[in-house]
Amino acid sequence: MFKKLILLIGILSTSLLAFNYDLKPKKITNDVWCFLGDLNAPTVKNGGFMSNSCYIKTEKSYVLVDTGSNYLFAKQAYESMSKIEKLPVSHVIITHSHDDHWLGNNYYKEKFNSKIIGPSNINKEHEVGQKTRMMNILPTDIMINTKVIKVDTEIIEATSLIVNDKKIDILPVGFKAHTSNDLLIFLEKEKVMFTGDVVMNGRITSTRDGSLVGQIKALNKIDSIEWEYLVAGHGYDTSKTATKEIRKYFTLLKERILQSIEDEVEAGNISKIVTLKEFKDLAMYDIFNSRNIFDAFGELEFYEEE
Ligand SMILES: [Zn+2]
Repeated sequence: MFKKLILLIGILSTSLLAFNYDLKPKKITNDVWCFLGDLNAPTVKNGGFMSNSCYIKTEKSYVLVDTGSNYLFAKQAYESMSKIEKLPVSHVIITHSHDDHWLGNNYYKEKFNSKIIGPSNINKEHEVGQKTRMMNILPTDIMINTKVIKVDTEIIEATSLIVNDKKIDILPVGFKAHTSNDLLIFLEKEKVMFTGDVVMNGRITSTRDGSLVGQIKALNKIDSIEWEYLVAGHGYDTSKTATKEIRKYFTLLKERILQSIEDEVEAGNISKIVTLKEFKDLAMYDIFNSRNIFDAFGELEFYEEE
């Protein structure tokens, strides 16, 4: 009796203490649901739920696009999806190497032995068992059970994945855009495009690991494909206008930097001359905008239009 009581108290206290994400998936199409995260940086308040994670329902299993920033989030996302239909997760596809998009992987590996598919730089940049950026930002009660695991299948060329009744195209961007190795995921029949962080809306992106010129080229590639719905790496707009804001941001950034170079503005003054104030109300503006301007100057200084 006493042992049982201790056990009960133990279970109650851990479940009471666990961070509750209160997740509600957004239905994109009949077979696609997404958890759309906060637009801000990872904080204790949002529990690191600040990127998008999607479930594609096939006849017998779910295929995921990105798994969020930790085990606990992944577990609660699955529990929430189970209320819609309780299916195993057969495959997980990761769009790019930033850890806010794939630290939920080990939950799916442990629970379903899901096959993890992603870009090759995750295995190159992260050792199994190593601590990542997110683990240093968020407290251990949120990051509990989260582990770096290997990507099972690295995508280097366009691949079609057939899972039950669904055909899922995995298309490498093929050049540096948000990162050196971004993947686009496309459901041709349903016309749903998942872009990872090559597209964001409602917040400013970071070009830290990417390229401004590559970003614009990648947006052209995305918009040359006939999609009806687009799920960005961060942001809530999944409609036809999903790429509009980021396209405007990069286009203006490029134009204004090139003009400043022509006007012989010096690197040290560039973020005073180019400000992109029309985007100042977007999330993460104060964190990323001036760095993006500075980096764009470096990239465009010796740039020649193709
Ligand atoms: Zn991201």
